[in-house]
Amino acid sequence: MKKTPFTLLLLIFLLNSCAEKSPKEKISKVDTKQANSIGLVIHGGAGTILKKNMTPEKEAAYQAALEKAAKKGYEILQNGGSSVDAVEQTIHILENSPLFNAGKGAVFANNGNNELDASIMEGKNLNAGAVAGVTNLKNPISAARKVMENSDHVLLARKGAEEFAAAQGLEVVDTSYFYTEVRYKSLQRAKEGDKDKAASYDPYIKDYKYGTVGCVALDKNGNLAAGTSTGGMTNKKWNRIGDSPIIGAGTYANNETCAVSGTGHGEYFIRAAVAHDISALMEYKNMSLQEAAKEVIQNKLKNMGGDGGIIAIDAKGNLVAEFNTPGMYRAMVDEKGNVTVGIYKE
Ligand code: ASP
Repeated sequence: MKKTPFTLLLLIFLLNSCAEKSPKEKISKVDTKQANSIGLVIHGGAGTILKKNMTPEKEAAYQAALEKAAKKGYEILQNGGSSVDAVEQTIHILENSPLFNAGKGAVFANNGNNELDASIMEGKNLNAGAVAGVTNLKNPISAARKVMENSDHVLLARKGAEEFAAAQGLEVVDTSYFYTEVRYKSLQRAKEGDKDKAASYDPYIKDYKYGTVGCVALDKNGNLAAGTSTGGMTNKKWNRIGDSPIIGAGTYANNETCAVSGTGHGEYFIRAAVAHDISALMEYKNMSLQEAAKEVIQNKLKNMGGDGGIIAIDAKGNLVAEFNTPGMYRAMVDEKGNVTVGIYKE
């Protein structure tokens, strides 16, 4: 065939329309109308968080920490950074604060160690990474990201996860870094089996087993990401692992639906597949993010006896914080950079 400009154009058109799109391309399709919308939600744990148990100083400390983390994430998104970067760096701030049950402020396991779990997921390709039961990594969320980006796996545990993260150049700390008096005393109380005392002793959070952190974000390219990091439950035994490092339970992200991070009684979150269920209700039942989150947290999870909550954002930038406990530490930043911090049920 003689190659006139017309036949060349025809050829290009035919090649384009016949090319089989890879599943990744199909998943990452972005609604261009929403491509410039950004947003971010964080949580710092759900539980029996009541105003009457708070001092003004404690409340202010939480508010300041949540606001600082949310603003950091927003700044990254506003400057054109990816949602995965925003999630990782926002969670660093929460992990580095002793206020939350993640990183520095992690609770103690029954064996006297701090065993940390974390996971991260990106919505554009359903890629995910997680670590469980690590004891010497300063920022477990970064280890989860390394697993996602630099390994063939999704979930690495304990010694192997620690070795992998160290080989990836992540900061390793002495286990004494995770010592905080408050959490250590909570363990002693819990060991005595005096649960009520343990709960009311902890000045940070009444339920000694809660306090996980999480972040979900939507970036300028329409990509969603979610991450969760935790010390798990005080007094946990036998290397118990909760929902936080389990993709589909504590963390999930899909550009076609939403990004979710959960906090609460992990065993129930795993059994209810909480984070994926919210995404699935949107995908298969066409529910809005709000409806899906409500259905899973207020009906399914609650009816099973599970307490806790989630934060989520959808592909259009709708922000949600849904919980069935008296409170959940949380902050939202909308497209314009307006930050709303919440602690109790409002
Ligand atoms: N979900 C966490 C766990 O069960 C605890 C929490 O969210 O506070 O390990």
